[in-house]
Amino acid sequence: MSQLDDVKKRRQLEAARIKQRLSEMYEISAEEIPEGEEVVAFVNVDQCIGCDQCLIVCDDDAIELYDAPLKNSLLHVEVNKKAKILRDPCTGCRLCVLACPTDAIIMIDR
Ligand code: SF4
Ligand code: SF4
Repeated sequence: MSQLDDVKKRRQLEAARIKQRLSEMYEISAEEIPEGEEVVAFVNVDQCIGCDQCLIVCDDDAIELYDAPLKNSLLHVEVNKKAKILRDPCTGCRLCVLACPTDAIIMIDR
């Protein structure tokens, strides 16, 4: 097995392990979250804290972080990030929904 195949295999195993662990912690069971080609992830930016957990679990490079201005003009924060879903590469696997600590991601119809 090549190094690349080995990395891919380990990544798949790790994703499966994370999915299992997160499913156990999540209030809604994973089975209740829509999955598949007919749905796509969507970020409610007001709930997003830019923690990048969704990027870590997304195997399809379908999430980007971007700089967003803070709504509160009294605060000055240098780095304020938000997540954005790239609709085309998103496979509807819902891993990001399970990973998000603030429930900022939902699955919506395509
Ligand atoms: S649903 Fe899956 S493919 Fe789509 S953004 Fe979330 S983790 Fe990535
Ligand atoms: S995991 Fe949730 S809070 Fe964190 S960056 Fe992604 S959408 Fe935002």
